Amino acid sequence: MVQKYFTNNPSQTRKLGKLLAEEISKTAPPKEAVVIGLEGDLGGGKTTFLKGFARGLKISKKILSPTFVIMKRFVIKNRNFKNFYHIDCYRIEEPKEILNLGFKEIVSNPQNIVAVEWADRIRKILPKDTIIIQFEFINENKREIVLKLNNGK
Ligand code: ADP
Ligand code: MG
Repeated sequence: MVQKYFTNNPSQTRKLGKLLAEEISKTAPPKEAVVIGLEGDLGGGKTTFLKGFARGLKISKKILSPTFVIMKRFVIKNRNFKNFYHIDCYRIEEPKEILNLGFKEIVSNPQNIVAVEWADRIRKILPKDTIIIQFEFINENKREIVLKLNNGK
């Protein structure tokens, strides 16, 4: 399934993130982690989206653009999920750097929700059912956000 959205300011993008988190929180417990891959240019709105997403998971800590931190874990209190991992691949040179952080274990644990910024850089190691979200810069305040579930089918 492919869903296309346009947002006209950061708060609309955060709202979209919050709605997705609420949907994921409500669904039946998965067999493996829920993985979301965020793609698109710098300033496209990936981190902004995840700020809203974290709110939807009732995380009160701030989601930042991790400059030197590749991965950050947040504890969540939900019936099905216990951890939210925010991974940013902007600075990595090869997928192995992410594998070395225990990525395989993280994405196989059904109590985890994992969001990966610059996911196209580690496409080779992403689980097949990763939810892909593409961010496109239309103009200063307008973004096109395309959500792909089930490999876009
Ligand atoms: P990324 O993580 O993709 O590099 P960020 O979310 O960090 O992008 O930055 C997006 C920037 O664009 C922010 O400065 C934000 O205020 C601005 N912005 C303007 N319009 C929008 C919009 N519609 N959605 C998201 N961000 C927007
Ligand atoms: Mg970012």
